[in-house]
Amino acid sequence: MNRVGLGTDRHRLAFGKKLILGGVKVESPKGAVGHSDADALTHAVIDAVLGAAGMGDIGHHFPDTDPQWKDANSIELLKKCVELLKTTGYRPTNVDAVVHLEQPKLGRLKQEMAANIADALQLPRHMVNVKAKTGEGLGPVGTGDAVEALAVASIEKMSTMVVRTSSTSLPVIKP
Ligand SMILES: [Zn+2]
Repeated sequence: MNRVGLGTDRHRLAFGKKLILGGVKVESPKGAVGHSDADALTHAVIDAVLGAAGMGDIGHHFPDTDPQWKDANSIELLKKCVELLKTTGYRPTNVDAVVHLEQPKLGRLKQEMAANIADALQLPRHMVNVKAKTGEGLGPVGTGDAVEALAVASIEKMSTMVVRTSSTSLPVIKP
């Protein structure tokens, strides 16, 4: 059985902060403000995956009141979610996401972000897609005050995965 989940996230942008999206450091005068590494894209993906499984949201599993998640690497949090997901018998199958950011243009970095997310989800890289849009000068994204992300994720029971991928290898663990 397949299930889908939706995730969204928004972080305020401020001078002197790092901008991390999909585990990639983006060169930008402004960065994202947050308790963890403020990776809006990865946070949206985490919420999409958790939502698909009916497992609540990122704030439930990694509360920002808990000092252990301060400056946390969000890609590592996503990996924890995948392990949690497996305990319910599911695994991710694909993710599609959009980043809303006025500047800089993300260009080829989108593919790096997708690759990081795919690796964390133990998926082939073509099963994760990252798109980017500006705010057209409108709203908090358009004025350069915020970065936002949206993601949908699908998951499936692992028993069906075994049948469908019997000819392919096991997930590769990256160093
Ligand atoms: Zn966030």
